[in-house]
Amino acid sequence: KGVKRALLPGRFQPPHWGHFRLIKWVLERFDEVIIVIGSAQKSHSFSNPFTAGERIEMLRLGLKDVGIDLSRVFMIPVTDIETNFVWPRWVEMFVPRFDCVVSGNPLVARLFFEYGYCVITPPMFDRERYSATVVRRLMLKGDAEWRSLVPPSVAEYIESIGGVERLRRVTEV
Ligand code: NAD
Repeated sequence: KGVKRALLPGRFQPPHWGHFRLIKWVLERFDEVIIVIGSAQKSHSFSNPFTAGERIEMLRLGLKDVGIDLSRVFMIPVTDIETNFVWPRWVEMFVPRFDCVVSGNPLVARLFFEYGYCVITPPMFDRERYSATVVRRLMLKGDAEWRSLVPPSVAEYIESIGGVERLRRVTEV
């Protein structure tokens, strides 16, 4: 009775192989996934270099690369609010109905659990390498190895918008 949907919040700054493996993992267990692009108001900083729109483009490119049927995926940007307690309710306003929340982020998991949702902690896929912080640090160092941590189409997109240059500029003091 009805499709089963999982909510998957993240910042995706930028989306890397760990995120795409996670999305695949979710779609092996649910009919559809709602990817919440969190901190949607943020961009042009070291922790959040890319706009919500750019993150949508990157997620779409990567999902196509890994052969995920985009009709099973929603992507919805949501801005942050000051009040953690109210955040799950805030997210609800922007997204279609969902059954469970999938998150490896303890704060996200706790907030949705206390609010009454089913929360699933997914496995971590090679977390040492597949981490957006690692990707951004390598970019800053000028180490081309960052490209191997994201799908090829995502690496091309980042280069096409001057993403590495942007990261350098916004972290200059
Ligand atoms: P993220 O991009 O770091 O991670 C997204 C998801 O991918 C997480 O579940 C994470 O565990 C998982 N992941 C990352 N690397 C992985 C790997 N190698 N293998 C498997 N899974 C991996 O995003 P995040 O920090 O979890 O994003 C949470 C968002 O929710 C942020 O935008 C935050 O601001 C927002 N938030 C807002 C409020 C508020 O507004 N009050 C409160 C809580 C959270």
